[in-house]
Amino acid sequence: MPRAAVTAFVGLGANLGDARQSVQQALIDLAHLPHSELLAASRLYRSAPVAAAGPDFVNAVAELRTSLSAPALLDALQALEHAAGRQRPYPNAPRTLDLDLLLYGEARIDSARLTVPHPRWCQRAFVLRPLAELAPQRVSAVLLRAVADQACEPIAQTPEHVP
Ligand code: ADP
Ligand code: MG
Repeated sequence: MPRAAVTAFVGLGANLGDARQSVQQALIDLAHLPHSELLAASRLYRSAPVAAAGPDFVNAVAELRTSLSAPALLDALQALEHAAGRQRPYPNAPRTLDLDLLLYGEARIDSARLTVPHPRWCQRAFVLRPLAELAPQRVSAVLLRAVADQACEPIAQTPEHVP
């Protein structure tokens, strides 16, 4: 029996190479994931690295409707990271592309390779500000105020190919 479709939110980040291009390409790739539809994407943001050195990040959040299971969606996201040349030399290293599964419907998952909601989603302005554009009901004013001191500004409109 086909699995019911779920609304999922994916956080995109890049700070190596042409980070803006990587995020834009990732949005195109997300639009082509199997059994999924890209419903919306936020503007692109620039943020300072949190708990890490390196260049500023380009960030965005995408909203998908998908009938992939959460682990299958993570597999697909990791395949896109890999295709973008992602390496993991050490925690929080600069990255060509980072795709995090922020929210998967209302699911709570705590497995060896997948924690949903993403463990740090509500501590990061680069998640909360773009997510608030797409799903304001899931981002309270209290959460936004708690990250008000983090540098993270919109730098570009949602790319034209994205709904
Ligand atoms: P981070 O994004 O935390 O800086 P990585 O992208 O290198 O670090 O991910 C490290 C591991 O986090 C991955 O191998 C993945 O299995 C795990 N992980 C757990 N929960 C999630 C999630 N919600 N989204 C993405 N990865 C996750
Ligand atoms: Mg990640």
